[in-house]
Amino acid sequence: MSLVIETKDLWRVYPSKNHAEGIPALRGINLQVETGTFVTLKGRSGSGKTTLLNCLAGLDKPTSGTVQVLGHDLMQMSDDELTALRRDQIGLVFQSFGLLPTLSAYENIELLLRIKGDEYEARDKRVLECLEIVGLGKWKDHRPYEMSGGQQQRVAIARALANEAKLILADEPTGELDSKTTHELLKFFRELVEERKITMLMVSHDALVDEYVHEVLELRDGMVIGN
Ligand code: ADP
Ligand code: MG
Repeated sequence: MSLVIETKDLWRVYPSKNHAEGIPALRGINLQVETGTFVTLKGRSGSGKTTLLNCLAGLDKPTSGTVQVLGHDLMQMSDDELTALRRDQIGLVFQSFGLLPTLSAYENIELLLRIKGDEYEARDKRVLECLEIVGLGKWKDHRPYEMSGGQQQRVAIARALANEAKLILADEPTGELDSKTTHELLKFFRELVEERKITMLMVSHDALVDEYVHEVLELRDGMVIGN
């Protein structure tokens, strides 16, 4: 068994003016995600889902415990090392992980591949392929503010695909999509996971998700239940 994600007794306590002891968003998470699985993370608003993804992406520092992602101990890594890990191996599909507003959908994705040093022709082909996959082939020259929230989300998904990330962390990527598009996208995610041994951890409220994933995890008050 090879694990892409492993956390041990992971806590994240946010400092708070009103509570001297802070707000415990994560309370001792022990999580194991195997390579090549499609996992969904459920739970009410405020249960700690986004905090957990941020900790797994190295965007937030846990208060205590350990986090291993793709064989790296994130707690021991510098900010530069974490940035490089995200850039090279992790695809993030976060609402807040913005697209650059002055760049078109095409350019937002192309920039990432350029930073990675891919050749022009390979870049161009890959960007167009990925925009096509998420159904935005005709929108390639539009900037984020000329697109709906759902379309922007799809650009972010296309960017993660283009990156050939080994791990994709997605925070409610289907939140603003209609059910037909959601089904298409979930089917696509499942295929992606199976064909390329990608691992995907996706936060979702959508009941549609269950039939497409290998595993459903639920967070409640900062703890994983029924695991
Ligand atoms: P979810 O994504 O499941 O809605 P979050 O991870 O956003 O949950 O939040 C978990 C808990 O941590 C909530 O009680 C929330 O209010 C709190 N929280 C989240 N982010 C912060 C922050 N930056 N500072 C203080 N408290 C926070
Ligand atoms: Mg959230």
